[in-house]
Amino acid sequence: MTSSFTRPVWAEISRSRLLHNFHLLQTLSTPDLELMAVIKANAYGHGLELCAPWLAEAGARWLGVTSAAEGIATRALCPDQRIFIMSSLWHQEAEAVLEHKLTPSVWEPFQLEMLSSAARQARLPAQSIAVHLEIDTGMSRQGVLWNDIAEGILTFFEPSSPLRLEGVMTHFHSPEEMDSSATIEQISRFETTVDTIFANGLKPAYLHAGNSATLLTGHGLDRLRALAAKHSTQLMLRTGIALYGYTPGYTSSVLPRLRDAKNSFEPVLSLKSRVVSLRTIPKGDTAGYNASFRATQATRLALLPIGYADGLSRRLSNQGYALIRGQRAPIAGRISMDQTILDVTTISEVAIGDEVVLLGEQGSERITAENLAQQCQTIPWEILTSIAHRVPRCI
Ligand SMILES: *Cc1c(COP(=O)(O)O)cnc(C)c1O
Repeated sequence: MTSSFTRPVWAEISRSRLLHNFHLLQTLSTPDLELMAVIKANAYGHGLELCAPWLAEAGARWLGVTSAAEGIATRALCPDQRIFIMSSLWHQEAEAVLEHKLTPSVWEPFQLEMLSSAARQARLPAQSIAVHLEIDTGMSRQGVLWNDIAEGILTFFEPSSPLRLEGVMTHFHSPEEMDSSATIEQISRFETTVDTIFANGLKPAYLHAGNSATLLTGHGLDRLRALAAKHSTQLMLRTGIALYGYTPGYTSSVLPRLRDAKNSFEPVLSLKSRVVSLRTIPKGDTAGYNASFRATQATRLALLPIGYADGLSRRLSNQGYALIRGQRAPIAGRISMDQTILDVTTISEVAIGDEVVLLGEQGSERITAENLAQQCQTIPWEILTSIAHRVPRCI
């Protein structure tokens, strides 16, 4: 807890649950697979400063971050881990890559040019800067087009180059779709590209593709394993959301590997607040902006000092609920920027100071990021990463 933490709005991060999920992923994996722990976007909103050291202590060797800035922050916390930058490297970030020993994904010639010129300027020896080449096999987002591994990009890795092609990677667009032929098609394209790269005499030590869904469904994993074995390289998967306790898009009924596991993934983050004010309004009075809530009886309202600026989506207005005294209290009216009103009429003895759970558990009730995502017509990733920076992350 930070000393400046006075407003009663906070996110509790469970170390034991994060480690439980991390170990469960290892259990569901096999010794021939390396798992990168994806901690991009402030550890999916859970707080980089808490999660990165916990995962490092638990044995994570590779950490996936968004940007050079996140890489620098992670390096300060984890001196020994490999830190992989997943999004595009931008101008003036090459020096940070060198200084903090970050490993970028690369595909644009300008990224390779700026890295090699920074390395030459620093008089670094040949093959000293590891980079991972991203292949676009169908996501059409990042990466060299799979059938366009022009000699151009591979010439950046000539023996005299300061750059070493340490990894080749791709990303699947529909890994959670069990019967998707799309993933298989993407893997076929990846195979073609990887074969070409090896045929050109390059020997990347890692191949990586796939996310939490890939590990948990096992979809395409055999093909990836075979590809890695064929070239005697290490296969790596990049697992994110399952670390934080969610396996969305695939239920345990279609998830043989999870069904066999004794445990399930447990949500790591809870979002909490406290009642700071109470009032009773008469039948007919309204609550909140634009009077979208109208009392149909004398109504007891509890005020929370949390709003959409904290990441509580305004879409939950008149729709969502919070947990108080172990019961569900509906959100009354529009969520404001910094405040939210609950209807606590049916919950007796609500008092100022009562703890309120907006995401997490209380008694036998539970609100998950999947519940909120459904109500907000989005995905748990967005719910978790929308929790604002001003909300302190506590243990
Ligand atoms: C975010 C991300 C992942 C992790 O995906 P999850 O579904 O959260 O496991 C893996 N690979 C890439 C390239 C990503 O951007």
